[in-house]
Amino acid sequence: MTDSTGRPALPPMKITRVVAAPLFGESPKGGWSAEIRPEDSIHALIAVHTDSGLVGHGSVFTDGRLVEAALDVLKPLYEGENALEPERVSEKLHQNTFWMGRGGTLTHAISGIDIALWDILGKATGLSVGRLLGGAHRARVRPYCSLLMEEPDEMERVIEPYRAQGFTAFKIGWGPFGRRDDYKLDEAIIRAARKAVGPRAKLMVDPGASDAYWPQGLKWAIRTAKMLADYEVGWFEEALKPDAIDDFRQLREVSPVPIAGGEVLTRRQSFIPWLVKGALDIVQPDVTKVGGISEQRRIAWMAQDFGVKYIGHGWNTALGLAADLQLSSAFPDCDLVEYIGGSPYVDGILATPFSLDAEGFLAIPDKPGLGVELDRDKVARYTPDAGALFA
Ligand SMILES: [Mg+2]
Repeated sequence: MTDSTGRPALPPMKITRVVAAPLFGESPKGGWSAEIRPEDSIHALIAVHTDSGLVGHGSVFTDGRLVEAALDVLKPLYEGENALEPERVSEKLHQNTFWMGRGGTLTHAISGIDIALWDILGKATGLSVGRLLGGAHRARVRPYCSLLMEEPDEMERVIEPYRAQGFTAFKIGWGPFGRRDDYKLDEAIIRAARKAVGPRAKLMVDPGASDAYWPQGLKWAIRTAKMLADYEVGWFEEALKPDAIDDFRQLREVSPVPIAGGEVLTRRQSFIPWLVKGALDIVQPDVTKVGGISEQRRIAWMAQDFGVKYIGHGWNTALGLAADLQLSSAFPDCDLVEYIGGSPYVDGILATPFSLDAEGFLAIPDKPGLGVELDRDKVARYTPDAGALFA
């Protein structure tokens, strides 16, 4: 097989197996009402192996036991497929599992497979995923450091180490904010955080209303949004329960700060009503849950056409962040990526860890595929069979 210039075309690369490596032991605190325990796995790495010996890596934000079960169910659909066709193969997995939990575990697991397939396509063609997505709008992007909220007098202690590392944008979330029915406490947390990050840093706020039994409603969110504007907050995220779409629309209408959300939505189709109703200023799909890069790309373009900004939520591991970096290069207004502060699954699994430049930006790797390399020994600290991820 040759192309029009006589060069040999790439022959198909068959998927031989897909494996998951659940990560345990050092999951950072989630701020959830049922807090994550060391023995809980809420993130898993994925490896797609091919008959060429090339391996692609991906990541899933879900309990490793669910991911392993999903891989078993999906096996007859991916085995022997051409790993060089991420969008077609992922869509085949979605279309053929319509009846078995679409949007849930299967969609999450397909996300990891899809990310790994894009990694393989990039490695096989010598192009970064960002270039494969249509071209690179930027070579670096500003990460915002996500940290949990604490009592006001603790916010400086929480923020300072990351400010010292060079972060120039922050998001604080969860913790006591909105959960004590105390506006004065909420404002004191924000005041302390603004003081700690300094007047010029970006500061975003995420009460985390997708947590179990979130106690507040629309009136709290409207009043709080007005308070946040006084502290130059960049966006107000998950301010309402995740299905309260009409309340989100009303909040967006009156809020002086941009309204963000969408991290718990999966499948591109779920985003349509949110965009059509005008419920969000900023949409935050999670590439490790929503269906992978193929799905996230479509959501991000759809958002563009609705005048809604796209910022990814793929912070679950270094591979989720690597996928978000590549996606950010492919979208003109995606000027931030989420970077969870203090997670060994982000900072401690790559051969060359991420590092900020002097202005607090992350370089987007212009290397084949995701452009990052897992370190086998480092990964082995967090999962029993790290070797299965490698050729
Ligand atoms: Mg959030």
